[in-house]
Formats: sequence, C-alpha cells, structure tokens
Amino acid sequence: MSMIDPKDVVVIGGGFAGLSAAVALAEKGFRVAVLEGKPSLGGRAYSFQDPDTGDFVDNGQHVLMGCYTATLDFLRRIGSADNLVFHQDLEIEMLAGPGNSATLRTAPLPGPLHMSAALMRYRHLSVAERIQVVRGGLRLLAMRRRDRRALEKMTVTALMESLGQSANACRAFWFPLSIATLNDEPRLSSAALLAEVLKRAFFSRRRDSAFVYSRVGLSDLYCTGARAIIENAGGVVSTRAIVDSLDRGEDGSVACARLRDGRRLGAANFISAVPPQSLTRMLPAEDGADPYFSRLAELGDSPIICVHVWFDREITRSAFVGFIGATTQWMFNKRRIFERHGERHPGYLSFVISGARRLVDSSNDALLDLVLADLCAMIPAARDAKVVKALVLKEKRATMAPDLRSHQLRPGTVSPLKNLFLAGDWVQTGLPATIESAVISGMAAASAVAARSTSLQAQ
Ligand SMILES: Cc1cc2nc3c(=O)[nH]c(=O)nc-3n(C[C@H](O)[C@H](O)[C@H](O)COP(=O)(O)OP(=O)(O)OC[C@H]3O[C@@H](n4cnc5c(N)ncnc54)[C@H](O)[C@@H]3O)c2cc1C
Repeated sequence: MSMIDPKDVVVIGGGFAGLSAAVALAEKGFRVAVLEGKPSLGGRAYSFQDPDTGDFVDNGQHVLMGCYTATLDFLRRIGSADNLVFHQDLEIEMLAGPGNSATLRTAPLPGPLHMSAALMRYRHLSVAERIQVVRGGLRLLAMRRRDRRALEKMTVTALMESLGQSANACRAFWFPLSIATLNDEPRLSSAALLAEVLKRAFFSRRRDSAFVYSRVGLSDLYCTGARAIIENAGGVVSTRAIVDSLDRGEDGSVACARLRDGRRLGAANFISAVPPQSLTRMLPAEDGADPYFSRLAELGDSPIICVHVWFDREITRSAFVGFIGATTQWMFNKRRIFERHGERHPGYLSFVISGARRLVDSSNDALLDLVLADLCAMIPAARDAKVVKALVLKEKRATMAPDLRSHQLRPGTVSPLKNLFLAGDWVQTGLPATIESAVISGMAAASAVAARSTSLQAQ
C-alpha cells in the first residue's frame, strides 16, 4: 500500500453522486477509479431501450428544476446541457376530472412575484384560497428564516394546519407539490424539507422555477459524457465491479476496496456514493459500531412506481399533466418529451405514483388497471384507446424517506475514517433526496478529497 499515488481516488457507485464526484476530481487532476456494481452506470436514474417498441424508457420520469444549479452545471461541464428542455415559465396543467383543468402558470415578472401571480390565477382554488395559499407560502418562508427548529419538528400536514390552509388548498396545491418533491405522504414528510423546496424552486428567481427535463434517455443524459471525462483524465470506470468490503489500514483510514471478483484496489482516498444499506455492509467490522455509521440503519426509504403504457393512438398533446384526487399523480407524454423514439405505436405515456408504500406490493396487473382507471376518469376519451404494451417498474427504495427522523439522521460528508468521504442524495444537504442533492453531495465529497490531499502535501 506504500506505492499508492496521492492522486488516486476510488469512487464506489456510478449514479449522479458518484459520477459528479469523479468528474470534479478528474477536472482537478486526480486519477479516479469508479466502481459500479451493476452492468451499467446510472443507479436510480437510468434508461434502456425497450426491444418491443424501440422506445427509450427511463426507470421513472425525472424532472429537474431551474434551481438545480449544481446539476445543471455538471451537465454543462460534461457537454450534455443541450439534451435538456427548459420551460422558462412554469406551466403545469392540473386535472381534477374530465374537462376540469387549471394551469399553474408563472407570470413574466421578477421572482417571487411570478409565483404569487401563478397562484392568484390558479382556478382549482377559490379566490379566498388563492390569497390563503400565497400568505401561507410567505409565512412558511418567514418560518424558514426565523424558526427553522420548529419546522424540523413538524410534518407537512401539521404545518398546513398551523398555516390555516383549507382541505381544498392542501388537495389541489400543497399536497401534490409535497408528494412530487419529497416522495412521501404529507403526514410523514418533513416541513423543513418542503420549506427548502418552496424557497429554492418557487419563491426565488423566475428562472429557478423553470421546469426542466431530458429529451434523451437518462443514461444518455449523463453517464456517457461523465465516463468520457473521467477516462480522458486517465481514470477508469468499471461496471460489474461490486465492492464487498473496505479494508482498514493501520492508522484509522481505508487501505483498499475488496471486490467480489477478488480484486483489491488501494487508493489515497475513497468516496462511497452508494445507498446507506450498501455502505454499512462494506464497512470494516470495527467501524460499523461508530454512531456515525450505526445510525444509518435507521434511515427509512420510500418507493416510486412508474407504469409505462403504449397505446394505439395519442391520447393527449400535453407533455405532462398532474392528476388531483387520483392515486396516480402524474402523467408524462413521452412522445412529446423524447426527441427520438420508436415509431411503432403512436401513444406512449408514463404514469408516476410517488410515496407509493401502500401500493408497492400490488401486482403489476393491478397497478396497470389502477393507472388506466385514473386515466379514463380524467380523460374519458382514453377509453377508446387500445393498450399495446405496458411495463410496470417498481423502485422499492426510490429515495430516502423524507420523514423527520431520517432527515435528522443524515450524515455529513466527512466520515470517522480519515480518507473515506460520503456522497449520495441521502447525505445531509438540507435538500430532499433528489438529483440535485446527489450532485451537491458528490461535489462536496470531491472538495473534501481535494482539501485533504492539499493539506497532506503541505505537511
Ligand atoms: C422512479 C424515480 C423517480 C425519481 N424522480 C426524480 C425527479 O423527478 N427529480 C429528482 O431530482 N430526483 C428524482 N429521483 C431521485 C433520483 O433518482 C436520485 O436522487 C438520484 O438518482 C440518486 O443518485 P445517487 O448517485 O445518490 O444514488 P444511486 O443512483 O442509487 O447510485 C448508487 C450506485 O451505487 C451502486 N452500488 C451500490 N452498492 C454497490 C457496491 N457494493 N459496489 C459497487 N456499486 C454499488 C448502485 O448500483 C448505484 O448505481 C427519482 C428516483 C426514482 C427511483
């Protein structure tokens, strides 16, 4: 191990967190080995080409926002910014039943007036409720500034009660927003996380609330470009490289990563960018008991179900629609979103159910029936369409649960092992477990490695 180059870094995990950390280090002149256990990169945000339809399929529709500054910068640096579609003005159609549609549309005004104007014109709320929601949002932002501790102890449901929000304001605005951004039921979700989303995405600059999505499959959006940068800087990216354990060195540091295929890889620094359950499995036995690591066992998670359905016709011209009062929360029209697609079937819709813990054990047939029933209840013309193919993808551990306890337990970047740094959407960034949280955590881990390397050089 004495032959280790101080510029050698092992990054375990090839999702947004690991790849953004590896790219940042490659840009700083480090030689990075990325070890990804699966056959391909991408982690919880990946895509594949469906052999029957020729279409690209994301494991689940991912939406970015203008406030994802770290992610947008990462995508720009790897040459992928052109693959994004930016909706400069937020414009979200919400359907509450056949023909009962209202659009949340921001105005061309400086933020946060743009959002207040959107709410004041949102027809699913009465005029009194619109004022109530704007006032509630402003009070929430004031609480975030002055009384963050109170928010840390409150669920979204309790917060809405304390802000005097009506049942309809919750049903038509607050709860859909909360479930979409935090991925769990409002009665379980942290009010502090919702406040953060509201501040960063909706009540800041106008461009922060831009709705952004990829016009190419998720894997093409970031895995190919990131890999090229890492390899061009002399690094390696290995897939099917499962790390079973980390061996401890004599001085409270990690000496090497032990792979299932028998390889051992040493480095000056290590970044773990895997989910918490994988990290705890690979830790040296004597370190697992350290409270920094042992409390990771208490972190909860929350599932997302995505049902992809191909039809013999196009059912809607909208790119995406939110459903109010249905189990299915969002419908994305992949024909309008993706730039390239298989031409075999005119209709391709992707339905999303976030915070799906009550449904995740249902059969695929039951879930397909459920989303089709919701679709037909919202858009009756869909009854005439023929389903050509369906694919149900359940992500049982889609994200860390946004509950009060889990949010409190999130660890920081620097671990008790001197040369081991943590990244992942679940690491404490103050944000919900999203792509932006993953990239921020990756950048923080890369900075911590660079800082350690500089301080060792100075000694
Ligand atoms: C269906 C769905 C929809 C979502 N929608 C959105 C959205 O709209 N907007 C948004 O911002 N976020 C969304 N998210 C969340 C987003 O996908 C995640 O926040 C992000 O992908 C997490 O990246 P990560 O790198 O932290 O973790 P991961 O992507 O989980 O990466 C960890 C990697 O480590 C690898 N690994 C694990 N153990 C080992 C081991 N022992 N050895 C080697 N490798 C290992 C895994 O295979 C994986 O590739 C969604 C998630 C899902 C599942």
